[in-house]
Amino acid sequence: MRTYPCICGNSLFYDNTRCLACDHEVGFCPVCRNMVALLADKSTDGAGGLRCGNPECGAALVKCANYIEHQVCNRCLALPVTEPAGLCDCCRFNQTIPDLTVPGNLVKWYRLEAAKRRLFYDLGHLGLPYGTAADGIKPELSFDFKADGIPKANLWRNLAASEKVFTGHADGKITINLREADEVEREKRRVDMGESKRTLIGHFRHEVGHFYWDVLVKDRREDAFKEVFGDHNNPTYSEALERHYKDGPPSDWADRFISAYASMHPWEDFAETWAAYLSMVSALDTSFHMGFTRQFDPVTSDLEPMLVRYQQLGVALNEMNRSMGLLDLVPEIFVPPVREKLRFIHELVGQGRAENGVLQPVDATPRNGNATNPSISQAQTLTQTQTQSDPPMPANASAPDIVAAPNEIKPAPALQ
Ligand SMILES: [Zn+2]
Ligand SMILES: [Zn+2]
Ligand SMILES: [Zn+2]
Ligand SMILES: [Zn+2]
Repeated sequence: MRTYPCICGNSLFYDNTRCLACDHEVGFCPVCRNMVALLADKSTDGAGGLRCGNPECGAALVKCANYIEHQVCNRCLALPVTEPAGLCDCCRFNQTIPDLTVPGNLVKWYRLEAAKRRLFYDLGHLGLPYGTAADGIKPELSFDFKADGIPKANLWRNLAASEKVFTGHADGKITINLREADEVEREKRRVDMGESKRTLIGHFRHEVGHFYWDVLVKDRREDAFKEVFGDHNNPTYSEALERHYKDGPPSDWADRFISAYASMHPWEDFAETWAAYLSMVSALDTSFHMGFTRQFDPVTSDLEPMLVRYQQLGVALNEMNRSMGLLDLVPEIFVPPVREKLRFIHELVGQGRAENGVLQPVDATPRNGNATNPSISQAQTLTQTQTQSDPPMPANASAPDIVAAPNEIKPAPALQ
């Protein structure tokens, strides 16, 4: 992840909605693919039109409906708007959003959207295909963000009201249980299930791995997949699931798999390894843009140099985290069988990119002449003048988990 320059010279972070130096509202411009100051468009004469603040772009913009109405998004659409609901290139994939009449759901939705936008940054960076049938993609990508139904008193027969929501993927639809956006609930489940980390972005990366199995492997490269991950038809998924919850993972899982859960079935092995691959690409991209490593593009790199750099970064950052009393940042160990699986995924991503002739990446293109790489000391200075995140704060909401100088968190925008 990179930062973006504001017109005032301050750095804007991917989640920002306002520049704390010049006080301009900011948003993501889909035309020049930058976080930019949103300038009033004088040609629309008070009609609320906006203009991209990047002087090399200047596109006429309007905020995403989820930015205007709920402040869970910070992206814009280019005029004229063709998307009927006025939703941006990330929000348009939502099929179900949380029930906003339930206290606390707005903040949880905000966290989910922030993680989802980062997922789209990763997919755009790698040039992977995704979309709807209209974009020529099968299956269509969509998202359901839902909470378990709570049976109303005396209405226990109402099955819909007591629906159990399972985080997962089915035929292009990624469902995330809203409970995962509650830090206490998620950490409890992480400890209960013995996981080294459990994050929202991690959920998206895992579930989108199932999506890409459908897009890039199913009916196309299944034989090659079996050679690396094993036979996904034998045992069947339901047989494997039953065995996993009855017997647990094999004692030697760490010799062959990226995680204990990956040992359940080849499909889960693929999704877990895919998620680890996306995490590696994201970490290398961020480390370059923050000045920790030299120019290094995971899109054009071979796998081996990526693994070496990720390992070097992991050693340093894990020690940093331990010195702060935090969990390891890079807990994965890439044993030889896992490296083979990563190699399969690396090649698959390259094939997906080559086949992606129709769709454009979401936001991989840096602004012209602006691919500068701040030194670490510059990056530190910049974080002191701009918080990394300025999320919506509905009244009575608990503070979201942001990293910011406490005296520089801007007041919460009023909800409309
Ligand atoms: Zn500014
Ligand atoms: Zn622009
Ligand atoms: Zn949006
Ligand atoms: Zn899965």
